[in-house]
Amino acid sequence: MDCPICQTKGLSEETSSCPHCKTDLRAIGLIEKADQAYSAQKKQKTLWILLAMFFVLAFIASLVFPFSTGKYVPQKEYQAMNDQLKSTQDELQQAKQQAANLQKEFDAVKSKEEAVKCDEFTYVVQWGENLSTIASAVYGDGNQYAKIAADNSLDDPNHILDGQKLTIRY
Ligand SMILES: [Zn+2]
Repeated sequence: MDCPICQTKGLSEETSSCPHCKTDLRAIGLIEKADQAYSAQKKQKTLWILLAMFFVLAFIASLVFPFSTGKYVPQKEYQAMNDQLKSTQDELQQAKQQAANLQKEFDAVKSKEEAVKCDEFTYVVQWGENLSTIASAVYGDGNQYAKIAADNSLDDPNHILDGQKLTIRY
């Protein structure tokens, strides 16, 4: 041990008084022992307080966050979740139905389009007609005369003859 007063080091534990400053080392030893006992008691007390706090916190936590196994979910909440699930499933079903209907419509339009694409017929020019009036009649748009001219490789769209055969493609 060291003398706490004059800091003389390496004194034997049995030394009753410091050979350097004559301090009574037994009294100092007793004080140290008492101090150690006090701090040990204090440590134990702190441990008990921490343990108690832990249990209180655990209890509060169990109230705030109930164990969420199916058993502990309140009936009302369970019912609400079930209803939500059902309505979501209904919505999904409706969306699927809508998608199926759209697909049907799309297929119908496509097949019509395909039929129209393949449509081609021969038009016989009548007296007084020109490419513009024919385009109006067959396409509903007089400006489509150029398409008729192109489809029939006409050099001069302004000159067509009565009885001339024109291929009309859609
Ligand atoms: Zn001393």
